[in-house]
Amino acid sequence: MYTSTRDPERIEVGYDEALISGMAPDGGLYTPTDLPEISFDELELYQNLPYTGIFSIVHGQFVGKSLPIDVQMANALEAYGPDNFPDAVGGVVTPVRRIGRGLFLLDLSGGPTAAFKDLALQAVGREMDKVLEQRDQKLVLLGATSGDTGSAAEHAVKDRERLKIFMLSPQEGMSEFQAGQMGALTGGNVHNLSVDGAFDDCQDMVKRITANPEFSDLGAVNSINIGRITSQIPYYVAGYLELMKQTNGELGDPMDVVIPSGNFGNALAGHYAREMGIPIRNIILATNENDVLNRLVQTGQYENRGSQITTSPSMDIGKSSNLERLFWEFLGQNGAMTGRFMRQFETEKRVSFVEYGLSRTAMKDAGFRSGTSSHDARVSTIARVYSDTRGREVIDPHTADAVYVARNTASMDIPTLVLSTANPVKFEGIVARAIGAIGIPARSKRFEDIERLGRDGFVKLPNDVEAVMEYIRDNR
Ligand SMILES: *Cc1c(COP(=O)(O)O)cnc(C)c1O
Repeated sequence: MYTSTRDPERIEVGYDEALISGMAPDGGLYTPTDLPEISFDELELYQNLPYTGIFSIVHGQFVGKSLPIDVQMANALEAYGPDNFPDAVGGVVTPVRRIGRGLFLLDLSGGPTAAFKDLALQAVGREMDKVLEQRDQKLVLLGATSGDTGSAAEHAVKDRERLKIFMLSPQEGMSEFQAGQMGALTGGNVHNLSVDGAFDDCQDMVKRITANPEFSDLGAVNSINIGRITSQIPYYVAGYLELMKQTNGELGDPMDVVIPSGNFGNALAGHYAREMGIPIRNIILATNENDVLNRLVQTGQYENRGSQITTSPSMDIGKSSNLERLFWEFLGQNGAMTGRFMRQFETEKRVSFVEYGLSRTAMKDAGFRSGTSSHDARVSTIARVYSDTRGREVIDPHTADAVYVARNTASMDIPTLVLSTANPVKFEGIVARAIGAIGIPARSKRFEDIERLGRDGFVKLPNDVEAVMEYIRDNR
């Protein structure tokens, strides 16, 4: 069962309700009231299962009776099957590869849009569709994107009968590759609206439109949906098993994980995996110049200083929304106190652990470590991994932030697993600066001509909320 992080009454809802509503009515986030455990025997069993099997069992415990088992299994087979993960060999959807002594990558970028958000969204889109079918409902989603989330969400919604999506994006700022990926998905239930403004304008419009009673039934696609978190737990299980296999470790031996982090969704899934029994020692949060998470770990103070644009753009955030679920845990699952804590953060842009009776080092005490990266570190790390692996491994800038932090922060006395969150072909510019154009890996077939394919897939609209509302009204 799930309860809102801000609900003093702890009213519980099922997975289906939490999935469809996204955010709780009181502004809190639906969070599991307790976590299932993974026993040693289960871990042994998972060693012989393909990813779809691990996913069905591990994630299935969070879905419970919200969907029939056979529907869940069919969803997993589709979400992580060969259509979506054409390069998966032998059922390994999230391969592990060594890049240095004791240092390994867990590659999460094999999905249809070549970034790790596919791993959650491919499952979540299908689950939403099936839950809506059970309830005989339909859902219109509205989102804003500056790049990656847009195409991953659209791909997950595409061809789902009960879902429709309107995605706002800024006319300037996305890479041609990202725009191409989105544009190529236009049609049917996917609408791409290109706004003559910045990403912030798009986000403001989403807020204003959903606050308008006429559009209050619109759903959101965002990283706080609990389904996105629980569908990210299985790859920690699969990654751990594969790492133990490659290092001749015994089941039960610990690993450290390093996670390129923004909204703290991926890291929270890692934290849950650890609580459930996966032997993760430290969860090391890697940030770019937007270092809100690093400051929190080091000082016990959560402060929003706004965000700047960097060359690892999917981590450009001023706050990390999923932290609220961890704070709720720290505060003894006390909804009233978590509500106060978060409201203080929202109004004053700053809140500290000690004001709420927690230790300044609460993050470290809970097994989190952190470090930050920078543009120069990113470029030199891409180059170093390329040369260390004799040209075998080209990493993207987000992964580079994490490898850089791993080398500076992880103690490396046990195997260290860096989560690799995007395919480098999505960020050819910075990769070329690091290793030269000659080093850029060949694109897989499905992306060969993506810029041209997506060119005409946008409806251009002025930077005017009325115009956007009118478009949605006419096409919803
Ligand atoms: C979204 C994203 C991240 C950050 O993940 P969070 O779950 O928001 O912390 C890192 N890398 C890439 C490529 C992403 O798209």
